[in-house]
Amino acid sequence: MDERLKQQQPVVYQTLKNCLEHQRLSHALLFTGPKGTPKLETALMLAQSLFCEQASPFGCGQCPACQRVLKQEYADLVILDGTKKSIKKEEILSLQERFSKTAVEKKGQKVYILHGAENATTEALNSLLKFLEEPQSQDITAILIVESTDRLLPTIVSRCQILPFRPVERTLCEKQAIKLGCTVTDAWLISHFVKDPEAVLALSETEAYQKAYAGFELFLEHIYDLSRCMVELQTDVFGSKSDAKEVLGYFIDCLTSFFEELACGLEDAPGKIKKKAEKVKEKELNLAQIQIVLLETKDKLSRPYNLTLVSDQMMIQLMEVIG
Ligand SMILES: [Zn+2]
Repeated sequence: MDERLKQQQPVVYQTLKNCLEHQRLSHALLFTGPKGTPKLETALMLAQSLFCEQASPFGCGQCPACQRVLKQEYADLVILDGTKKSIKKEEILSLQERFSKTAVEKKGQKVYILHGAENATTEALNSLLKFLEEPQSQDITAILIVESTDRLLPTIVSRCQILPFRPVERTLCEKQAIKLGCTVTDAWLISHFVKDPEAVLALSETEAYQKAYAGFELFLEHIYDLSRCMVELQTDVFGSKSDAKEVLGYFIDCLTSFFEELACGLEDAPGKIKKKAEKVKEKELNLAQIQIVLLETKDKLSRPYNLTLVSDQMMIQLMEVIG
């Protein structure tokens, strides 16, 4: 992990390395950066470095302590996940209660990670602020993870050492995903909307993405006669009960990436994609208008709309634009 971090996030890597080597690590850190940057992985790596007996300065990754951190089974590590549901005041209070006692493990360090801290309730953030303000014992380290600091109280932000994560450059992410075993086409396509090589590979293996990709191929195949693939798209691609929303989301991501690159001539696209594009280039397309339809549809996915209606509407709008 630390080699990967060194390559992808050199500034974060160097800062943490210096702080650990000189034992000048802040007791409250704020990791901020777009989705797909390895913020949680880095937080876990930092926790390992504080718990590992052989840290130099990063955790070895192999010893029982390091392994238990990865499995999130280390007793003095608490992770609250706000990425799926918001973090509540009670959770912060019980964390505070637990950390007021001496550490369970013999290393004596305690770490808590608030993943998606911006999704904490206002009451929770106020409790957190009090927790951060109180003179903490030297052995507690807080790591807050957010995509943006906008929704955090400025008083919380000002108490933290901020480490900004930059999005990984797309082509680097693509190359690394291929090295990990991702196909050339998937790596190229997915690296447009996922900024972490391992996450690119993981997504390429999901059923939801594979359905979306099949839909993407079908779409390009029939781009000037979309009514012909409408039924197939609705039943085989967007029609599944369990993951329809995800599939539609990835389908839109694939199309958005494709049309974005089409506008620049698909220079670095893999052969398979270029081949599909040959048909598309035959006619002038209103690319800006297509992107607007895709963007608006993507936006609707985050709200409680009827999915069938949303995908129907998208297809009809696209047919109108493409003509
Ligand atoms: Zn270790």
